[in-house]
Amino acid sequence: MIECATVYCNNSACFTFKICPTSINKTTERCSNGKSENEMKNGDEERISKYSYVSPLCMSGGDGYNSYSTNSLLQRRVLSKAKPVLVKNTKELMINLNFPTYIKVADLGCSSGQNTFLAMSEIINTVNVLCQQRNQNPPEIDCCLNDLPNNDFNTTFKFIQFFNEKNITSKESYFVSGVPGSFYSRLFPRRSLHFVHSSYGLHWLSKVPEGLKKSKMSVYITNSSPLSTYKAYLNQFQTDFATFLKLRSEEMVSNGRMVLTFIGRNTIDNPLHRDCCHFWTLLSRSLRDLVVEGLVSPSKVDSFYIPFYDPNEKEVKEVVQKEGSFEIKDLETHGYDLGHCNQDESKRSKSGKNEANYIRAVSEPLLVAHFGDAITNILFNKFACHVSQHASCRNKTTVSIVVSLTKKKLSSCPKV
Ligand code: SAH
Repeated sequence: MIECATVYCNNSACFTFKICPTSINKTTERCSNGKSENEMKNGDEERISKYSYVSPLCMSGGDGYNSYSTNSLLQRRVLSKAKPVLVKNTKELMINLNFPTYIKVADLGCSSGQNTFLAMSEIINTVNVLCQQRNQNPPEIDCCLNDLPNNDFNTTFKFIQFFNEKNITSKESYFVSGVPGSFYSRLFPRRSLHFVHSSYGLHWLSKVPEGLKKSKMSVYITNSSPLSTYKAYLNQFQTDFATFLKLRSEEMVSNGRMVLTFIGRNTIDNPLHRDCCHFWTLLSRSLRDLVVEGLVSPSKVDSFYIPFYDPNEKEVKEVVQKEGSFEIKDLETHGYDLGHCNQDESKRSKSGKNEANYIRAVSEPLLVAHFGDAITNILFNKFACHVSQHASCRNKTTVSIVVSLTKKKLSSCPKV
């Protein structure tokens, strides 16, 4: 069953919100032998990914003080730094596909709030300006906004009016729909997608890696982790990212483009190195403070790991090359600037709160699922203090990696 509800329509644009329970069923409903109904019917296990998602993973919904929508300025800055790559690839797509009359664009990991529309409007405006310049008819554009089913899509959809009025310069047709499901599963029909955008979604893994040792109260890789922890995380990233590429290659047309941005690191030599002020290192310290105060048990912290990985450029390239369906066009790294270095004390304390709010907005549902909701206020007060104490550190190793990819022609792709 596919429910389709047209929510908003006027002369210049029409938005369609599709709620697609079928795509959820594919990833979550399992028969007793572990296969989904679809896998059973088609006898084609490869077609539907067995990879699901960490069920409590989502950003904090709504538009209140602690929400993702209110605390995603950092991601907005990331989007603006990636804009030249996005614009360049959008133009090249249109030219290489010889100005099609229809294109389907997806933002994977759109989250709640308005950031997704900044990316979508950039694509739509670029297409329309290029069509004017080249004297071509602009295509109808299908904008599919994807995130996990737990995502607060309603908050995103509320920004549609703003998107329409302020950000779109043309009066041509574009259609917005929501696609709930994991991007580690199939989301779209074969060869239907022309352009995929995803910003700050792919550093989230489909699950916490298996086989990790007890964490010694660190929620992620630290300088003192055993090498096996790094290997387990890298292995999970390689599996997940390769799965993502394989599934998108099934869904995309030849010469389709992807622009992907994720948190990465610029260290090559020591894979365990994370700065003393790395956000997950500070979260671990804040949790240890709560252990010292008797608010959380050490074993509870020991059993908590974040399903996240920050690859370096080499690790990204290797997965793309090994998977084989896409060719890398652009690969850039940008500084990850939290903006709290070298500030006076009052500004430092404000930046500490800002970073605490930002990390809270992206991790609270995961933390609450494991620790309950009684500790989050005190935990993030501690976190804000730790950030302030590290204000003079220059965060050098965390970066944003932007990569653009072209889907190879079918004959040069591995068989799907
Ligand atoms: N692109 C937005 C949101 C980034 S936050 C921006 O730039 O502001 C990352 C988003 O990715 C979250 O909303 C999270 O729910 C989503 N995400 C993480 N894993 C996902 C998965 N497997 N499938 C779909 N979305 C996922």
